[in-house]
Amino acid sequence: MAIQTKSYRFGFRRYGFEDVRREIDPYIVLNAFTHTYTRIYQTATNSSGGRTKNYDLRAKGPDRVASTVVELGGQWIGNATVQKYAYDLIVNELKFGVIDASYTHGGGKSILVASNGRHNFTSLPEMISKFPKEVSDELSDALRLLDEMAQTLDVTSPQDSPRAREWDSMTFTSWINQTVTHEETRTMLQAMCTTMIAQSADVVSFLHILFYIRAANGIANLQIYEQQYRVRGGTQAPAIKMAEELGHNVMHYNSPVTLIKQFERNGMCGLICSTCNSHTIPH
Ligand SMILES: Cc1cc2nc3c(=O)[nH]c(=O)nc-3n(C[C@H](O)[C@H](O)[C@H](O)COP(=O)(O)OP(=O)(O)OC[C@H]3O[C@@H](n4cnc5c(N)ncnc54)[C@H](O)[C@@H]3O)c2cc1C
Repeated sequence: MAIQTKSYRFGFRRYGFEDVRREIDPYIVLNAFTHTYTRIYQTATNSSGGRTKNYDLRAKGPDRVASTVVELGGQWIGNATVQKYAYDLIVNELKFGVIDASYTHGGGKSILVASNGRHNFTSLPEMISKFPKEVSDELSDALRLLDEMAQTLDVTSPQDSPRAREWDSMTFTSWINQTVTHEETRTMLQAMCTTMIAQSADVVSFLHILFYIRAANGIANLQIYEQQYRVRGGTQAPAIKMAEELGHNVMHYNSPVTLIKQFERNGMCGLICSTCNSHTIPH
């Protein structure tokens, strides 16, 4: 087996990509017979891209790169300042074009329906100011508090924060309910969570929320530039391109890893999946 040296930094997701470049190298697999190494990616599904998912309306099929795709999963990336690694990977390294498609660039056509009426807005900070004053004030205070707490985290090791265990033991909803009292403020914070990280605040670790804010270097960046660009060809396109370049020998689809065993001996660990042969990899 040949040595596969090509690796990519996968930088799509907002979780920390702003400051933390996550290296996802293929596993290095030792071929016991030839004593050479190869690298593999194992993924549970039949395609690359995970929660980025193109569906081509013209060809009527998933996992395609086309101008006619609708994205069923992740859609936006931030700009080069807010999400510099995602932007760098997708635009500079993989050479995908992006389209400025922020929903706050609509010339004031974005609409908030609040308890005090219907308002047009051009930015999220402006939107916040349109709520009833008590809600707007409470929301602003909550966002300031989130920023302050996030700043206490080391972005490279949030788990080492003195309060990491406490914050990781509660959901974002727990924190919201402890901190703000107006129903509209609570709803707004919940909505920010679902729109920004595509997960319900009921199930997200509060530590993760703080890490996410810290990684973007503050809520202001998340509010203004985070959902700015769409990727030409659809957001799954970069993952599809990376997988194609890595090739069939490296990409192993429909191969859910069911167990990772760590051996004490020889610096090796085992990787067991339900649909393919087990591997031994250095750890
Ligand atoms: C509707 C929706 C909208 C979104 N909008 C945006 C957006 O606009 N901008 C944005 O940045 N993000 C958005 N996201 C979030 C974004 O898509 C994900 O956060 C991102 O894809 C996460 O990347 P990941 O590689 O960490 O995990 P995933 O994309 O979840 O990939 C995990 C991979 O691991 C594989 N896997 C899981 N278990 C195993 C196993 N046991 N063995 C082998 N393989 C396994 C899965 O098959 C999958 O391929 C959105 C998500 C959704 C669902």
